[in-house]
Amino acid sequence: MKSTPLAPPTNSLAQRDHAVLWHPYTQMQTAPLPIPIVRGEGSWLIAEDGTRYLDGIASWWVNLHGHAHPHIAARVSEQLHTLEHVIFAGFTHPTAVELAEQLLEILPHNQARVFYSDNGSTAVEVALKMVMQYFHNQGQPARRTFLCFRDSYHGDTFGAMSVSGRGAFTAPFGPYLFDVEFIDVPVPGREAEVLAQLDAVVARPDVAGFIFEPLLLGTAGMVTYSPEVLSELMRRCHRHGVLCIADEVMTGFGRTGPLFASEQLTEQPDIMCFSKGLTGGTMAMGLTTCTAAIYEAFLSEDRLKTLFHGHSYTANPIACAAALASMALTRSTECTEQRARITAAHAAFRQEIENQPGIRQVRHLGTMLAVEYDPGENTSYFSNLRDALYQLALDNRVVLRPLGNVVYLLPPYCTTNAELALLYSVLRQMRELVLSLTATPSHV
Ligand SMILES: *Cc1c(COP(=O)(O)O)cnc(C)c1O
Repeated sequence: MKSTPLAPPTNSLAQRDHAVLWHPYTQMQTAPLPIPIVRGEGSWLIAEDGTRYLDGIASWWVNLHGHAHPHIAARVSEQLHTLEHVIFAGFTHPTAVELAEQLLEILPHNQARVFYSDNGSTAVEVALKMVMQYFHNQGQPARRTFLCFRDSYHGDTFGAMSVSGRGAFTAPFGPYLFDVEFIDVPVPGREAEVLAQLDAVVARPDVAGFIFEPLLLGTAGMVTYSPEVLSELMRRCHRHGVLCIADEVMTGFGRTGPLFASEQLTEQPDIMCFSKGLTGGTMAMGLTTCTAAIYEAFLSEDRLKTLFHGHSYTANPIACAAALASMALTRSTECTEQRARITAAHAAFRQEIENQPGIRQVRHLGTMLAVEYDPGENTSYFSNLRDALYQLALDNRVVLRPLGNVVYLLPPYCTTNAELALLYSVLRQMRELVLSLTATPSHV
């Protein structure tokens, strides 16, 4: 059988891509050609043909200070010419030490040690292994069950998938995932019910850890819940010796307003995971921090108590340099003001839109604003609604990535008021589109 001939070779970047690449979360048979981006500038992405797209989702939640930021670029360039990489077992280097020192200064004060890895999923894998081996090292291997939120997302590697909600993303891998205990997300009004769900399992002798996205579940559809109920869930875990893992991969570095979502809690996590905004969106890097008590459970004359985990690029100096540069920007007064300005603008827009027809709910936390559109009774358009919303944004030269009928903004902190106004205008147009699609035909 002859294979289908390829499209005639052209110089188009999108077509060359289409011939050789396989994109993440993309059905390659039906997806339109990717948009070739050749340059970034502040909140804008500039395409091969010169079209400028406003990056409303910080390039998958990673970019904090704008694209190709000169301060980060200078620091990375300097590091490239000084030390690009060194093995991190048996050796160390200045940027790794400096970054860990600076982080521990700003994290909740019980965090005592920093373990580097490559991305958000690996940061979660390390956290899970820390919990598993913490109990193993103390001769309590029976503590092996994790508690998680039913709709959570913690990454795409196997441990991270196992502690994530089960759904379309995990379906093909279901048989390979380890069992966990799910509780519902304690959204406003359901707090008591979820506390009771936790109580039903937390005292069991096999429960080891509770992993959660603090205050804001991203992939679940930007679902928010209160710091009070999370603190109470954690308090009940701690009462039974269950370790708490705050996955701040998305919420870290100012996304929810303060530097970390955990700052709003009255109970402190034992382990924390970071990635995404860690390097300001410049380099892939993850890290996991833990308390002194966890770290000390791995100290022994017995080599078998070592944490056996590491990646080739652990603590890559260039990534560390990018993180230091980004963190300096994040901690500046200017950035604090930028975040406050975006938060206030989101709050005002929420007031404007939340009670209008076509809107089911608006959720807002810090620099994140999510609009859940109401697809109404007429669900025949519902499956296509996501694609229609995505296209409407692109037609306005704005990059947004709807999660079903939820459209969220997660802009870089440098996004100006005029740029925010453009984002809000697209959200308004989306409401009109939803209304037109769901309008019931009048019965004549
Ligand atoms: C994105 C994300 C991850 C996974 O990070 P990757 O770098 O994509 O592997 C884990 N946890 C949360 C909360 C995330 O948002």
